[in-house]
Amino acid sequence: MPGQHARLSASGSKVWINCPGSVKLTEGISEESSPFATEGTICHELGEMALRERLLGDKIDYPLNRFNAEMFVAIATYRSNVEKLIDEIGPDPVVFVEQRVEFGSLIGVPGMFGTSDCILLWPEHGVVATVDLKYGKGVRVDAEANSQGMLYALGVLDLVHEICDIKRVLVIIDQPRLDHLSRWEISSDELLQWAKDITPVAIDAFNGSDRLTPGEHCHDGFCKARHTCPALAAEAMAAFEDNDTIPGVMSPEQIAALLPRLPRIKAWAEGLLTFAWENAQLGVKYPGWKLVAGRQTRKWSDEYQVAKVLEAEGVEPWTRKLISITEAEKTVGKKHPVFELTVKTEGRPALVPESDKRAEYVASATIDASIDTNFTED
Ligand code: SF4
Repeated sequence: MPGQHARLSASGSKVWINCPGSVKLTEGISEESSPFATEGTICHELGEMALRERLLGDKIDYPLNRFNAEMFVAIATYRSNVEKLIDEIGPDPVVFVEQRVEFGSLIGVPGMFGTSDCILLWPEHGVVATVDLKYGKGVRVDAEANSQGMLYALGVLDLVHEICDIKRVLVIIDQPRLDHLSRWEISSDELLQWAKDITPVAIDAFNGSDRLTPGEHCHDGFCKARHTCPALAAEAMAAFEDNDTIPGVMSPEQIAALLPRLPRIKAWAEGLLTFAWENAQLGVKYPGWKLVAGRQTRKWSDEYQVAKVLEAEGVEPWTRKLISITEAEKTVGKKHPVFELTVKTEGRPALVPESDKRAEYVASATIDASIDTNFTED
């Protein structure tokens, strides 16, 4: 079946498992390109080189002009974490780097495949580990029940089941820029059962289901239709319908009922605004709306000439400013002794669900009107 490999990807599995209709709805929508995506691609190339050099003995000539210092620090952490895993489980695993694995036959849709960053296999211990490098730091990703890693592991089970008996599967997500190394273990029997459980939804999605189910996965999974999806828009608008006819102000209970839904609605609204603004600049007309010029701002036309004029007036024209902690980390790495000279300051309190593990903050008498509303759902 030509083209079928593009339909159910491992990296997009969080979306299609939760919303089978997304496969059909996103057909024809091209991959979003962004500086972050480009950085991620470059960093994966570097990660591949680092593992090939260290674990497979390949001779690597690093194209240094493609990578920045932050990427090298991130990849050094990634490589070191893989080495620590080998130290823990056992020497000389079978190593696959940037390996294509086919998992489709185990979920009822033969031909589906994905490319795993790193797979380590210890046949004598009956252990397989899939390690996924995430260079992004916008969304923290956990290994527990991570369908991408589980699908890669399924592919390995399918590949080696006749030659070795795998009992333990380790799913590992390494997000070095967040200092986040997440690990989760599942038995091969449980993994095969999970494959059976998702088979109906995989077949439904592959066959062009119309079932659209909005949820966290729309944004966390970067669904390509999240800006134009009618189901997501309907869900966002419906959140307020219950409150339309209520006389008087909303009660704390009504606000509390809306709070868990607001982050998703906010993400949807902001994404839609950006999407419409970008398309308007490309010539798309939205009925009743138009593009207007942005507010003009002033800036120096010739900084060195300005400096000369001000110096002649006895005014010091230049200011010096210390670089930020983040900039310093990018330049000298996070372990540099200079970071002993940091202190932590109190952040603004955040409004979160009661189930959050943090202790309740006791507010002082004054209420800051600009409260932090960047809470997250459970
Ligand atoms: S935006 Fe959400 S509901 Fe719409 S297709 Fe994507 S995953 Fe499904």
